[in-house]
Amino acid sequence: MRVSVSGASSLREDVRARAGALGLHGWVRLMDDGTVSAHVEGAPAAVDELVAWLRGKATADAFSERMVRVEGHEQFAVRGVPAGVFVVQEHQATAHHFDLRLELDGVMRSWAVPRGPSMDPAAKRLAVQVDDHELAHNQFEGPTGSGGVIIWDRGSYEQGGRVPWPEALERGHAVFVLHGQKLRGGFALQRTGRGAKPQWLLIKRRDEHARPGSDIVAERPESVQSGLTLGEVIDGG
Ligand code: MN
Repeated sequence: MRVSVSGASSLREDVRARAGALGLHGWVRLMDDGTVSAHVEGAPAAVDELVAWLRGKATADAFSERMVRVEGHEQFAVRGVPAGVFVVQEHQATAHHFDLRLELDGVMRSWAVPRGPSMDPAAKRLAVQVDDHELAHNQFEGPTGSGGVIIWDRGSYEQGGRVPWPEALERGHAVFVLHGQKLRGGFALQRTGRGAKPQWLLIKRRDEHARPGSDIVAERPESVQSGLTLGEVIDGG
């Protein structure tokens, strides 16, 4: 059942607590228009109980409900809450690549993306998992001995998907929403190979931020910190 009510954002935590007590799975999210949207699945009697409780929270004209397809969630999560920061650093080393880093449990989980991220859902970009980095490294921009680094994009991110994190990463399929200056909306990381350096694919999800046919790394080469390109940073060093 998909339910929408208008209400204070504190309603999200109440919904999550009550859904948890009823053994329901799904999510609750504060929408841009101020309404609270909840996706609830589980035992019909429990779903009915939660929906009835939510109906009691809303005035008659501010409540809607409709049946939707089961999404197969394994938890009941509050969506739309930043899970931490993300950064993408363009890095010229032996090989040129972009490092995507997501904050998780106090470190930055990292993937080297040779061709860089894309806003085109049809572009599946190889992303090689590399060592975790310290959060302090997110601030680094400058020449290095053999090349250089620029902060190509940064912002906050939300964890999504049906499986809670970090389990989603351990299983090899993680969905997340980026709130960057260049990268926005839903993305997925799908593991395709294990080993010392596991291979993944980074894929833009189809949403209102997707831009089919676009080439964001060519369109926006500049650092979000200095405005300089990687070449200018290296030459300036
Ligand atoms: Mn790197």
